[in-house]
Amino acid sequence: MTGLMSAKKQNREEVLNKIEEKGFTDYGHYAGKLLSAIWSDAVQGAADERKKLRIAAALNNCDYDAVLISVLENNLAEVLEGMAIAAYALGTTNSAVYLPSENDGLADRIMEMSKGYGLDMQIEVGIVDTHITNTNPFYNANGHFETYAALSAFFSDPETYRPSILLAVKRGEVLEGFKKYPLGVTVKKVVGDIAEEDIMALEIGTKIFDRTALDVKIDAAFQPENGVVSVLGPDVCMIDQAVVRMEKICYKSCGKCTFCREGSRQLHAIFKEMTAGKGSASDLALVKEIVDAMEFSTLCSVGKTAANPVIGVLANFDDEIEDHIKRKKCRTDTCKAFMNIYIDPMKCEGCGDCVDECPADCIEGDEGYIHMIDDLECTKCGKCIEACEYEAIVRASGRLPKLPEKLTKVGKFKKR
Ligand code: SF4
Ligand code: SF4
Ligand code: SF4
Repeated sequence: MTGLMSAKKQNREEVLNKIEEKGFTDYGHYAGKLLSAIWSDAVQGAADERKKLRIAAALNNCDYDAVLISVLENNLAEVLEGMAIAAYALGTTNSAVYLPSENDGLADRIMEMSKGYGLDMQIEVGIVDTHITNTNPFYNANGHFETYAALSAFFSDPETYRPSILLAVKRGEVLEGFKKYPLGVTVKKVVGDIAEEDIMALEIGTKIFDRTALDVKIDAAFQPENGVVSVLGPDVCMIDQAVVRMEKICYKSCGKCTFCREGSRQLHAIFKEMTAGKGSASDLALVKEIVDAMEFSTLCSVGKTAANPVIGVLANFDDEIEDHIKRKKCRTDTCKAFMNIYIDPMKCEGCGDCVDECPADCIEGDEGYIHMIDDLECTKCGKCIEACEYEAIVRASGRLPKLPEKLTKVGKFKKR
């Protein structure tokens, strides 16, 4: 509790001045916003609305998987001490911790431990409208868990304190552990030794970039909202990735703001259509309109960042968009709508082995005749490819070559 004790040796004005002089900023979505400004807005808001000021700690709403809850779980004493310092500086004991979901064990620990810091603690469950909406009868001075832990570290030892950030790398589906980095670290340093050609995209929190973002610095003003830098490999279809992310956002939106609720659904639908081969160039103009409206017409970080996956794909992967819309192909064959499976008439020996393997019963042909796949019925499962020992069954995207239109004897098909 050395941080709180050292803060309390100073008067409130001095504590506030130190925080301002140090240029403390909040972590995550509101990265870059000075803590002193957040607090002064909250004090003013509480006075204007005649509410009680409350120190609130939360994740960013757009930390959809609550990855950074580990900061609270592993550094509870530091987070509570930081909240107590904030409470002292702002002359209140009201405080709240927002948990992203019910967690009785953690809630009990918070309630128990917060008594030692003189906090009148409340546990809230669900998303916090960070910095904007306030729960009656309180007006929240909101901050990220990491922000409060940093305050504790600073007041515990101002001389050795260096601003740092917890970051984890996600490769494919594997999330590696969090490590502490100095603010200003490059993305390259965080993702480590990896050949550039093995990177298709970098996802920094909710934002998507191409590999040139390796040189970007993660600092007070630019950082992942969830502490995660994801490396997406060359086998990843970026249009499909946008769909996956928009689907998650649709699920997370609480629905209060029209543009978060409807905008996310529309962006999801438009990109889904692209993956189904039904996208059109006119959709892109609509996407831009929706994206602009979402930024300015939503209340919290979910809505404000909801369009980020789409913005990132539009800005960095226009070639892939053109592939899906104009050239009707998917670079990685992820989008099955563009994938064709056909039997090469010059290679088929008419053995019939593929017919028995097809679960959709959509391969036609007789012994000694070139076999044909009914494209409308084919599910693109690929089982026939493995069954053909003549390697006559081809998986490809783009235009189909000339194929037989009726049963043709093996060796009798003419390409032209
Ligand atoms: S609808 Fe509004 S308040 Fe609800 S998650 Fe979206 S932006 Fe936040
Ligand atoms: S495609 Fe292959 S497995 Fe099917 S009939 Fe022709 S040669 Fe046989
Ligand atoms: S890909 Fe699957 S469904 Fe299509 S023809 Fe081959 S086995 Fe049948």
